[in-house]
Amino acid sequence: MSKKRCVGSAKALRPLLRKTLAKTLQIPSSRRVKEIAKIAEQAVQIHSPRDVVVDPFQVADALELPVLPGEYQGAFDGLLEWRNGRFYMYYDTRLGGPDQPRVRFTIAHEIGHWYLDEHRECFEAGVDPHKSFTGFTSRNPVEREADTFASYLLVPPHRLREFAFRREPDVKLILGIAERFNVSRTAAAVRYVQANYCGCAVIRMGRDGSRVWSWTSDTLADWVYRTVRDDLPEGVEFARRFERACAGSDPVEGRLVPAETWYRYAGEKLDLYEELIPIGRYGVLVFLSTTE
Ligand SMILES: [Zn+2]
Repeated sequence: MSKKRCVGSAKALRPLLRKTLAKTLQIPSSRRVKEIAKIAEQAVQIHSPRDVVVDPFQVADALELPVLPGEYQGAFDGLLEWRNGRFYMYYDTRLGGPDQPRVRFTIAHEIGHWYLDEHRECFEAGVDPHKSFTGFTSRNPVEREADTFASYLLVPPHRLREFAFRREPDVKLILGIAERFNVSRTAAAVRYVQANYCGCAVIRMGRDGSRVWSWTSDTLADWVYRTVRDDLPEGVEFARRFERACAGSDPVEGRLVPAETWYRYAGEKLDLYEELIPIGRYGVLVFLSTTE
């Protein structure tokens, strides 16, 4: 990995770095996702070449990044701080123990801030400690980049392929990925859709029914152009299904819907299989897949 270093006074560089960050760190484009994926995969090859379940604490240790758990009462999930010439990492113990998917993802996210040159340089130039809200819960582009890094670090492409390629694209598979790689349902669904093994999509809805974000696989995008609707599908049937998903933890059984139920522009006669995956206080994932 190239290690660009800051030159000149840190103070003088701050406005420039802020400007650069604002310009370059938009919601990750597919090109940027590929760049980040490559960096994460290199990290896996160096620090965890043989493990199915990558241990982000082990990676942090190898990078000599101290990880300091503590009771931060929800002020942040994780935090990366540059102090006295070195980095420190913190995470909130309310997220659980070190084996919990949320904690693992948070540590992997902070490692992402360290690994991605633009992020690390910004910290080193003396911007404020960075409070992270991880797990694809933030709309902040910087956070989304670190989330992308974390998802590729914990679910490396070649290991995902060994497990999921050519398998039936359904909720059972998404839950299987979550279990296999010890990641959240959200991280599992996002990584599966990014892998583009088939036409599929994941849409995260808040508990209030608002759309938070969506990923559409390249194959499905050929039909629907990533034009996900902002509003929920009409009709009492979806409302009931959504309510059930919000109330429990078991996925709600699938139904076949026309693609235009979820997309403003859809290829003719395209049907999608719609399944709902509860994600607790974060809302519901809508998993869509094309039918054979
Ligand atoms: Zn962050």
